[in-house]
Amino acid sequence: MKISDMIKSGKPTLSFEVFPPKTSDAYEKVAGAAYKIADLKPDFMSVTCGAAGTTDSYTALIASEIKNKHSVEALQHYTCINVTRENVLKKLEFSKKNNIDNILALRGDIPENYDKDADHDFKHASELIYFIKEHSDMCVGAACYPERHPESPDVKSDIAHLKEKAEAGCDFITTQMFFDNNVLYKYLYKIREAGIYVPVIAGIMPVTNAKQIKRIMSLSNAEFPSKFMNIIDRFGPDNDAMLQAGIIYACEQIIDLIANGVDNIHIYTMNKPEVAGKIQESLSGIIPSCQNK
Ligand code: FAD
Repeated sequence: MKISDMIKSGKPTLSFEVFPPKTSDAYEKVAGAAYKIADLKPDFMSVTCGAAGTTDSYTALIASEIKNKHSVEALQHYTCINVTRENVLKKLEFSKKNNIDNILALRGDIPENYDKDADHDFKHASELIYFIKEHSDMCVGAACYPERHPESPDVKSDIAHLKEKAEAGCDFITTQMFFDNNVLYKYLYKIREAGIYVPVIAGIMPVTNAKQIKRIMSLSNAEFPSKFMNIIDRFGPDNDAMLQAGIIYACEQIIDLIANGVDNIHIYTMNKPEVAGKIQESLSGIIPSCQNK
């Protein structure tokens, strides 16, 4: 099923992101956690990929298992880095053969020593989106950044480039994580004002240990509200308390989002089935698929 059709149904949805292993030794542990999350029967699951295509075969395998063995819709991530048109056509053929209906088309983070201005087949996600749409009937998603992509000089150019992704035909956009819902509400206003009407899925990261904060800071421009920082300061040193507080903070964000009409929520699970399960449990009266287990 296409994610665009799920969104059109108008019911709130909850989906989970998982990542693949980097090496074969880690397959059992990492993929095993992803399959436990699949057994929670969310609306769909996305499977990330390494920026330079390093985990592509595991991404494809895990997405296929989620869809065909665990009966959960899969969203397979594709990136542009080091990828040719021919590679993408082959990947599309493989995805189609594995009953994958949904692709998240990204540029990927630029690896060290990569000349981003060289003559690559795909420089930006919008080019990949256009190509996939031209060569398949996949439902295609894209990424957006309520607090601006770190490479964008300003919000205006960031939104102008998001518009290119919408014009290339993307069916939905998933946000980078944010910790203050007002940031998202203001962003939605700005993108709609810029003529971008593509459905937006809110990306939520449950922060369940204080160490995650450093990584989040390196990945995004996220601002942390004082309510959130107080939680980290008070509970960060105590693992059990931080786990509980992080899950409750994420659930409060989600309840507020749905109350304000942002019905489609994607959780960055970091492959933690217990976190995904607890969030689902807490929302069982609010999101229909949370009663699926
Ligand atoms: P783009 O849309 O190409 O934008 C990248 C930068 O270029 C932005 O600053 C944009 O404003 C600018 N830009 C866009 N078009 C143009 C243009 N025509 N001219 C000049 N500038 C332009 N990374 C992975 O490696 N693997 C994953 O699986 C993955 N999953 C992700 C999932 C989500 C939901 C999100 C939010 C991010 C994910 N990322 C992933 C990270 C993402 O790849 C990086 O943030 C990357 O740096 C940008 O990707 P993009 O698709 O947004 O790129």
